[in-house]
Amino acid sequence: MKLDVNALRYLSKDDFRVLTAVEMGMRNHEIVPAELIDRIASLRHGGTYKVLKNLLKHKLVHHDSSKYDGFRLTYLGYDFLAIKTLVNRGVFTAVGRQIGVGKESDIFEVQNEDGTVMAMKLHRLGRVSFRAVKAKRDYLRHRSSYNWLYLSRLAALKEFSFMKALEDHDFPVPKAVDCNRHCVIMSLIPGFPLVQVKELENPDIIFETVIGLIVRLAEHGLIHCDFNEFNIMINDDEKVTMIDFPQMVSVSHRNAQMYFDRDVECIFKFFKKRFKLTYELLSDEADDNGETDDNSRPSFSSILKNGDSLDKELAASGFTKKDQEELERFIEGTSKDSNFGDEEETDDDSGTEDESIACHQTIDNSNDTDIKNFESLGLTKQDAIERECDAE
Ligand code: ADP
Ligand code: MG
Repeated sequence: MKLDVNALRYLSKDDFRVLTAVEMGMRNHEIVPAELIDRIASLRHGGTYKVLKNLLKHKLVHHDSSKYDGFRLTYLGYDFLAIKTLVNRGVFTAVGRQIGVGKESDIFEVQNEDGTVMAMKLHRLGRVSFRAVKAKRDYLRHRSSYNWLYLSRLAALKEFSFMKALEDHDFPVPKAVDCNRHCVIMSLIPGFPLVQVKELENPDIIFETVIGLIVRLAEHGLIHCDFNEFNIMINDDEKVTMIDFPQMVSVSHRNAQMYFDRDVECIFKFFKKRFKLTYELLSDEADDNGETDDNSRPSFSSILKNGDSLDKELAASGFTKKDQEELERFIEGTSKDSNFGDEEETDDDSGTEDESIACHQTIDNSNDTDIKNFESLGLTKQDAIERECDAE
């Protein structure tokens, strides 16, 4: 997914006004009738139609006239709304290279006024499997307006809330900076995902730390559910940071034991294969924790006895139990384990050609230091659209 911020240069206040109108219309229309967009935007002299043409040219909206003359936002259109809001808030002023692309996200560097570089994660829930979700009509029945915008926003809100709560409890996670729509801004973690690390000075210590994290999360009432070599960052000092939280569940989830065991198993397998840790060694270390099952794996049931819960804090952070249930239903329906390549492409593509990029690829474009400054792109804090953009 390309994020060409240069296009922001060509966008006027009216463009953003109409883009926001499309977004508002999408709260209860998959395809928003052009007339409704016109009514919401209320530009003079039929200006909306001219603007829609311009937005279409820049691939910020998609035109659909199969049932009626209508439009919907593309990922890029939604990206621009979130970016503009965050720029207006002063969270960052420039966007740089893409540093990662996950199965359901794109990660970019952004920079604030002081020159601090942060990470921007744009959630793309449904990029891979929106058709699969749509096929699950039983699940969608209660929500006719259920769409990728809503899901991606929910995933971002969850990630932001969990990151904050985990940070408050001294878990090694990125610092949560801000969140808008499907976009999370967090501190940039130096180093690489573990999957890219071929050698470690102390693999046994890292292994112990990582298993210790899974156990400590469970003690706090949480299971990561995607705890693997792609979501563990390691820096030069071999410090571990965990990332990627939209799929986390509570230990009270009916499949909690299975998720917990799967996370543990993933780590055991990876360390055995990549760093040739033997099970004798693994077993000794796990025993030191005093909480192991027959298999030398940490035992879920014994951890639960000491359980504490982050649920209340998370509810207080704005991510409700209902949000959690809705997101869980989606994630279970389109499990991260499902075969990426076998799934149908989303039908809400934004007209860009590279939607089929490999899962969990980290982009090495270190030569591309081109930071785009938003001030020079004509984005000012006084922009009148700010009110609408922040209306969320
Ligand atoms: P996904 O949910 O799509 O898997 P992740 O949050 O795991 O997304 O991010 C994908 C990749 O982007 C990671 O594997 C990592 O390489 C990079 N990345 C994500 N967050 C950060 C961060 N805060 N700092 C540095 N790199 C990051
Ligand atoms: Mg990931």
